[in-house]
Amino acid sequence: MRTCRFRRGGRELYGVIDGHKVRALTAEPWAGGLPEGPAFNLSEVSLIAPVVPSKVVCVGRNYRAHAAELGQEVPKEPLLFIKPSTAVIGPDAGIRLPDASREVHHEAELAAVMGRPLTCATTAADAREAVFGWTCLDDVTARDIQRAEKHFTRAKSFDTFCPVGPVVETDLDPMDATIVCRVNGEQRQRGFTKDMVVDPYLLVAFISQVMTLLPGDLVSTGTPEGVGPIKRGDWVEVEISGIGVLRNPVV
Ligand code: MG
Repeated sequence: MRTCRFRRGGRELYGVIDGHKVRALTAEPWAGGLPEGPAFNLSEVSLIAPVVPSKVVCVGRNYRAHAAELGQEVPKEPLLFIKPSTAVIGPDAGIRLPDASREVHHEAELAAVMGRPLTCATTAADAREAVFGWTCLDDVTARDIQRAEKHFTRAKSFDTFCPVGPVVETDLDPMDATIVCRVNGEQRQRGFTKDMVVDPYLLVAFISQVMTLLPGDLVSTGTPEGVGPIKRGDWVEVEISGIGVLRNPVV
């Protein structure tokens, strides 16, 4: 199943996608929302971020080659940080470059969408039960600020620094996907989720031992190598096989 959120007639609705058509859902898809009303062509609606997370939990350096390009080791345990929900934007929304940074980077990532609350899970199987689906996420980062500061919060949390979408795909093997990032059509990143250091379900379980994950929360699984700068006027695309293409302009 493929779900989304969309704006139509001044309302923001969850939807389910079938081919090029979308129908509204009566509730969140993970809460048993059922299709209602007419089917619209996807071209007639504006897709927005497919979830409204209470938090976005991310992991640093979950691919060896990316850790190496930053001149760092892979951490012994997952290195967690949070992007605030206020950083989330949807497809086609602008990534705003802050005055405080001279070096903003793209980071293409696969993100899990939680469908059930999860606390203190110890196995990948428990995590798998609680994950609803998968989406594309761009962990936009002010690299100069990240280098200058010990904590990631400021570098990762500017408004618009978390593009998500375009859809959530429930039928995806998260260990068998290809992640590509293009800037103005030119490929910058191409990675394979099988190269993750920590399996995404074990990552979700690990995080749930720290904080309760709630339905709609996002867990981003780290970026492969090839991160690099974006500048005003660029178009950034994150494409994950089986999900789709998340496109955002830099403004
Ligand atoms: Mg990242």
